[in-house]
Amino acid sequence: MRIGIAGITGRVGRLLVEEVQAAGVALAGGTTRTPDRAAGLPPACPLFDDIAALAEVCDVVIDFTHADTVVANARALAGTKAAWVLGTTGLSAQQNESVLKAAEHVAVVHAANFSPGVTLVQRLARMMGQALPAQVYDAEIVEMHHRQKVDAPSGTALAIGQAVALGRGVDLDAVRESGRDGHTGPRREGAIGFAALRGGQIVGEHDVLFTSADEQITLSHRAFDRRIFATGAVRAALWVKGREAGLYSMEDVLGLPPL
Ligand code: NAD
Repeated sequence: MRIGIAGITGRVGRLLVEEVQAAGVALAGGTTRTPDRAAGLPPACPLFDDIAALAEVCDVVIDFTHADTVVANARALAGTKAAWVLGTTGLSAQQNESVLKAAEHVAVVHAANFSPGVTLVQRLARMMGQALPAQVYDAEIVEMHHRQKVDAPSGTALAIGQAVALGRGVDLDAVRESGRDGHTGPRREGAIGFAALRGGQIVGEHDVLFTSADEQITLSHRAFDRRIFATGAVRAALWVKGREAGLYSMEDVLGLPPL
């Protein structure tokens, strides 16, 4: 088995190099937009000019780059035999559409968060959305990340909100309330609320709260180290090798039964 890494010089990319090696799998090489930052990569790890060339020598390409690369990467990988493990976040509707198109031709595992813990939080949030009526239970999602993070709410918070919305059978965009400030009026019934905190070097904290007049249920997840995303992505790569074309999730990788 051979794995390639798109975004090999990035924060997650460098951890992926270590985790691919720790898994005893061959590292076929990588792509980067910043080859000047390639110092420290293993000597036998070639850099490729484009992802299609990398995919030619891989069974699986793990891609943690930037949303701007997704449409071109989807088109390139659809023409190869390599599976695609995609961790890049912040995708537009059009970029998501291109991922779906690629999945008609190759196996794709796409997750906003490759940590097994967050995958389970998403599953439980969906079950809570299904079981706890929106008229009685107010759903709120609170996240905190490091001070360099540029987008809010986090991709993971939105994915958890999406899971709650799925459980409730509603469209997240129609019920989403983000960043309340000033005279907001009372909480809208059925709203899914988001609050984003920023500070220090926090890797990622997510809390999901369901609060009624009589009780509160809180799911909490704390990521202590970015490495959890790399180990999860390598686990997904080992799982997806040789699978049929299609779009898979981290829930599939963990073997959770369909809801
Ligand atoms: P980073 O900026 O440290 O690294 C990005 C890498 O992609 C670099 O190697 C860079 O050279 C390359 N790159 C950037 N823009 C490119 C372009 N236009 N064309 C080709 N290569 C390009 O970022 P990071 O912290 O490693 O995160 C990368 C992505 O993964 C982000 O979208 C981030 O939100 C996401 N992420 C996902 C998870 C998850 O579990 N799904 C976890 C952490 C981060």
